[in-house]
Amino acid sequence: MIARYPTRQIMVSSVAVGGDAPISVQSMTYSSTRDVAATVAQINRLHFAGADMVRVSCPDIEDAYALKAIREQTSLPLIADIHFNHKIALEAAKYVDCIRINPGNIGDASKIRAVVQACQERAIPIRIGVNAGSLEKHIEAKYGATSHAMVESALYHIKLLEDLGFTSMKVSLKASDVERTVAAYRELRPLVDYPFHLGVTEAGTIHHATIKSAIGLGALLLDGIGDTMRVSITGELEEEIRIGRDILKDAGVAKEGVNIISCPTCARLEADLVSAVAIVEERTRHIKTPLDISVMGCVVNAIGEAKHADVAIAYGKGKGLIMRKGEVVANLDEADLVERFLAEVEDAAKTKAQES
Ligand code: SF4
Repeated sequence: MIARYPTRQIMVSSVAVGGDAPISVQSMTYSSTRDVAATVAQINRLHFAGADMVRVSCPDIEDAYALKAIREQTSLPLIADIHFNHKIALEAAKYVDCIRINPGNIGDASKIRAVVQACQERAIPIRIGVNAGSLEKHIEAKYGATSHAMVESALYHIKLLEDLGFTSMKVSLKASDVERTVAAYRELRPLVDYPFHLGVTEAGTIHHATIKSAIGLGALLLDGIGDTMRVSITGELEEEIRIGRDILKDAGVAKEGVNIISCPTCARLEADLVSAVAIVEERTRHIKTPLDISVMGCVVNAIGEAKHADVAIAYGKGKGLIMRKGEVVANLDEADLVERFLAEVEDAAKTKAQES
């Protein structure tokens, strides 16, 4: 398991962020927050998809007023996303579990103090969210919109809170490109011990956002950096959670669920492997126990993979082998293979869960 940078732990309602807490996955609604029914419906979709927490933006005070009714209809930890206006933050702080706000952008010291006080009274943390697209003018004038400028911006906001004795915070440093994002997180990581919220922002459509997030967040996770994360995809909800969890799993920082090893197919293939893998992926999605399963098109590499897999299939011509930990447990016609394989996977998951 990859060693994580030690960070202090904060609580977003019941979800621990930082320290030895599991890396949480979050997303954000895109409805108008004052449309309570639509926002609750999106929150419920995210809850059902396995989100650990959800952010809702509050561009106006009416959106903050709506948080009361939203709060009453969900148990998922809520984060209010606020820019510039401390009155919105004060209203939102009554109902949510975390405020995302950059203190340097909300006006004079009395306004910052008021927001800090409101968060202290309810024991809720603040997320400082630096975005390369909206850096403070004095910082951008000095450093340009660089990763170093993002770090300087974060340190500026952090100091404002620390000067008021407030340390319950997490920090994000997002840019729309992977290079600046990764560089900024890497530069800031040794300088503070606050938990980091990872993300490549404005990452685009599902195709590009998946690639950018896998590279950027993956690189950071492999460095041991990151305590919570969001995959930002234009117009997606459930997919943000699914891809986020898969990045954690494939980076090796979360041991949860099924890891499917399947071959790319080639001319040796004499079975409908593509359909079989699609069925296996769909019908094993619910399994939380960590399992390696292998679905391979022929014996060339299947036997080697099967030795490391909890359950494996090696397809042949019209037939195939099913193996557990490399031992053959069945030799069946192709038509019967997938169902038997899925039964073995369920059994392996149950056995492993009982052993752990
Ligand atoms: S396992 Fe067999 S069918 Fe699949 S890619 Fe390798 S050689 Fe081809």
